[in-house]
Amino acid sequence: MNFIQKIRQFLEKKANHIEAPENHCPNCWGRQEYEGQFLEAIRNEQIDLNNIDQKKGWIDAYFTRHFEGIKLRQENDELICSACELSYKPD
Ligand SMILES: [Zn+2]
Repeated sequence: MNFIQKIRQFLEKKANHIEAPENHCPNCWGRQEYEGQFLEAIRNEQIDLNNIDQKKGWIDAYFTRHFEGIKLRQENDELICSACELSYKPD
């Protein structure tokens, strides 16, 4: 599921929160409140189910600006978070 789909599910109230974007650290996503800040940002931007497609550019820009630091990097057969150094097995 891509990130836009995750936001959509959240807006449809099929999910209570937005999961970490693919290839980004779930630990940092929850613990360092990336999710909370993002939820606040989409509220401030008034993103809803009617305008989410038009707001895709805004979401992409936010993503690039704020989530780069918790992107997982591939090392041998593991994915490592540059921020907290936790490693994950790829799915
Ligand atoms: Zn992390």
